[in-house]
Amino acid sequence: MLGKLSCADLAVWGGKPLFERARSTSSLYTPDINKFLEYSKVFYEARQFTNRGPLVQELESRLARFHGVSHCISFCSGFWALVLTIRCTALSGRNEIIMPSLTYRRMADVAAWAGYTPRFCDVDAVSMAMSPDTVRPLLNENTALIMAVHPIVNCCDAAGLERLSAETGIPVMFDAVESVYEVLDSRKVGSFGSAECFSMHASKLLNGFEGGYVTTNDPALAKKLTIMRGFGFSGQDNVEDLGLNAKLNEIHAAMALAALDDLDTLVQENLVRYRHYQKTLEYIPGIRLVAFNEAEQTGFKNILIELQDDWPLTREETLRLLNSENILARAYYSPPLHLKKTRYKTVSGPLPITETLAERFMLMPCGHRVSEDDISKISMFLLFMQEHAADLRARLNRE
Ligand SMILES: *Cc1c(COP(=O)(O)O)cnc(C)c1O
Repeated sequence: MLGKLSCADLAVWGGKPLFERARSTSSLYTPDINKFLEYSKVFYEARQFTNRGPLVQELESRLARFHGVSHCISFCSGFWALVLTIRCTALSGRNEIIMPSLTYRRMADVAAWAGYTPRFCDVDAVSMAMSPDTVRPLLNENTALIMAVHPIVNCCDAAGLERLSAETGIPVMFDAVESVYEVLDSRKVGSFGSAECFSMHASKLLNGFEGGYVTTNDPALAKKLTIMRGFGFSGQDNVEDLGLNAKLNEIHAAMALAALDDLDTLVQENLVRYRHYQKTLEYIPGIRLVAFNEAEQTGFKNILIELQDDWPLTREETLRLLNSENILARAYYSPPLHLKKTRYKTVSGPLPITETLAERFMLMPCGHRVSEDDISKISMFLLFMQEHAADLRARLNRE
């Protein structure tokens, strides 16, 4: 099935790659094109292409219902949704935001754009997410906001962080990009904290080409965000607030609506992919698939594996061999943010758990364009690496 009999046949040493078209970690969901075009006709015929047209309004009201909240405000990207939500929720007169270091690559930039200094906290060893216990020691008189981030698989202790916020008076908001479909303590993700932010980038669960949105139950916050994303205008030429242009346009909303119609089906397909990874990785020594919590609703999107102590190669060697076969596995949130050079100031204490976890995990190909057959091949290739480890090691060391 692999067509590789020995290590000399690997793509890294000149063999034919296992996959002609690369298999990536992006979801890349493509709804039926006619469905997308049908939605698009609505705004095209109304000649309203942007500025909260009919499709953006429909999308916002459907997403508010989906997440069980009273308000949804759409944006041109998840990034600007985060920046503007920080601007609206952080305490004034203070300049630090507490966030995990083991997280989305650009999260510290988000804080810097909003005008704040990131203070990095450690994560819980099991959930791989920040928790009340890792946040509490960092709270100080300069803390303006807790930026909670749901990890790639499962959720952080959102209720616990809400309690910490209530107890200390420091607001908490969530980056829930990786938890669109999740339910936590019988509550749909979207209603925790002051607000939750999502992305509709093509690589995410809900594909709007590009885009983002914020969910909240706070009407004043919703109004402020709506004003800020549209230049800060309230009414014609009356500039109320520091704004910019961060609006979602109609064609992106058309794509997102078509994708939202199919979301349950996509999740069912993700579950089939996850089950196939479970089955084919089960007996490979040194590999642990991070399990979804199936006691609550989850989107089964990301496939995260840990390379354990008995895995024979380093993660970087493993990734190099996989990537050359066009299996575009990626290091999981590595390097962590506190180890990156930035042009702006950051603060961090000791982060022992983050530094250990940052070395051990990788994300495997997933999403709409990965079949069960692909997964079988990927798992067999991992098994091949395991079985030929001595030869691979010798070759890698000779280089
Ligand atoms: C992708 C991503 C973002 C940013 O979303 P964009 O729409 O690409 O700007 C933010 N947070 C997390 C966790 C992400 O994965």
